[in-house]
Amino acid sequence: MGRMRINDEQYQHMAYAWGLNYDMENKVIYGERSGYPLLIYASNALAPLMFTITTSAVSTFYPPIGNVEENLLKSRAPMLTSAVQRNSRIILSSKNTFDINEAQKNVACILSALISFMQERGFMPCCESCGYSVHTEILQTGHEYRHLCPPCGERIAASIWQNMPSGKASSNNVIKGILGTVLGAILGFIFMTLFPSYTYTILVSGLMAGTFPASIGVCMGGRPCKATKITIVVIVVLTVFVGYNANYVLAFMTERNMSVGVAAKTYISLMLAGMANMKLWTWRLTAAYIAAAVGGFSSYLSASSKFNKTYKVAHIGRYRR
Ligand SMILES: [Zn+2]
Repeated sequence: MGRMRINDEQYQHMAYAWGLNYDMENKVIYGERSGYPLLIYASNALAPLMFTITTSAVSTFYPPIGNVEENLLKSRAPMLTSAVQRNSRIILSSKNTFDINEAQKNVACILSALISFMQERGFMPCCESCGYSVHTEILQTGHEYRHLCPPCGERIAASIWQNMPSGKASSNNVIKGILGTVLGAILGFIFMTLFPSYTYTILVSGLMAGTFPASIGVCMGGRPCKATKITIVVIVVLTVFVGYNANYVLAFMTERNMSVGVAAKTYISLMLAGMANMKLWTWRLTAAYIAAAVGGFSSYLSASSKFNKTYKVAHIGRYRR
């Protein structure tokens, strides 16, 4: 059996039959029945006729919907698969079907069972955030839908917009990002210099030399542009190289009691004369670079993961009322 598709017109038709509206842009059905705000959407893209029905209401006399209430609702609407309540949010699911007329009847039956149940028990529609019994609208944030009064909806949407990373990196962010990278590089350099360079410890200091610049750079600068990314890579490459060599110079200074200048000169001339163990030197440097790449890449991914989410914020039906 091929994948089933229900088009906008068919959803619109169903919404109309239930006395509700279809929001074509956001692909959900919304509206009010007997004063209760309703939102209906297909639970799953693979099952376009299996619906989730939500509302927001509480009763001062009766407990929220639990197992007993769920069973009562199921006895009145056999095509109901589950009914739960979290605070004021009530969520019902319908059985899956492949027949559009059956789906329409199923949901109609669930809706009338739900509404008469809420009326019998004095459920009052309310805002999910402040709990006031006022007119609500539906705010979609990501995959979550909430029935909110206009002030709560505005407040929550505004705070989400504010925290959402902007699409383009500003020049101010570039400077902050590079500054953060340099700061991280200094920490990485200190690590590389002071940490003794045995084969296994070089892995640790290399990891740090990659992790610090990448994570501090992205945290301070936000979403990095291409130039910032290249700068981070160049800074990490230099940090590892300079830090790695500084570690040897420091060893000369402490072991042979030399000044920085003399130690550096001795080290460089030793290297140029080919008197050092170049095989070990190259091997350790390679290990440091691999560790730095692992640390830098993984911390870059984790620090920038928040930028990759496409987060949807929508007021359902607001402009179609
Ligand atoms: Zn509110």
